[in-house]
Amino acid sequence: MQLTTDNKQLTTHNLQQTTNMSPKTRAAKILKILKERYPVVKTPLFHETPFQLLVATILSAQCTDNQVNKVTRVMYQHLKTPENFARARVKTIEKYIRSTGFYHNKAKNIKSCSKVLLERHGGQVPRTLEELVKLPGVGRKTANVVLGAVFDIPGMVVDTHVGRISQRLGLTTNTDPVKIEFDLMEVIPEREWNEFSLRLIFFGREICSARKPKCPECPLFKLCPWPDKLLDK
Ligand code: SF4
Repeated sequence: MQLTTDNKQLTTHNLQQTTNMSPKTRAAKILKILKERYPVVKTPLFHETPFQLLVATILSAQCTDNQVNKVTRVMYQHLKTPENFARARVKTIEKYIRSTGFYHNKAKNIKSCSKVLLERHGGQVPRTLEELVKLPGVGRKTANVVLGAVFDIPGMVVDTHVGRISQRLGLTTNTDPVKIEFDLMEVIPEREWNEFSLRLIFFGREICSARKPKCPECPLFKLCPWPDKLLDK
């Protein structure tokens, strides 16, 4: 990937402009462009119930959504509910989810999580971040995915795409996902949190990938202060 000399001059000029812009102003412009590019967004993880989305999100750690969907479409024909997973042997769950990676831990967590849901929540997925993060295998990222997709409760999901792109776009200087989550919540309106994180994830897959961001064709090019975008790739 190579930028033209004109683009480099433009970039240096924009860099000064974007550096002078407050993160909130830059965030509002970024949000507008991303909404135009990805007008309708929803979680790509296959599920028919809140519980199934919870399980799929646990499986999505270190695994692509496509692979998770392949696994869950088969597994959910046999194991569907917290009761099914709580009763199943860990080895049985492992058999289905092996290809998602870290399957020993994931299987143990899904079984334990199902038991806790039955014991403390009547088999229902709780509706608060505080309760969700107490479940085995559920961190803030998973909890926010479920809150947003199932209950329409605002939450900022910070995965590797969201973390990387937020740093490149100057919306955070932090590397810790929880700190990034709070930085983004400062500059993005609350009603937009769920869809903003989904839009950044789609944008990360399509344009601003970890290794080879497509800077010359990026719709956020003029707003991006990332110094490495000046470099030839
Ligand atoms: S200009 Fe490059 S680094 Fe910046 S957001 Fe676009 S693709 Fe990512």
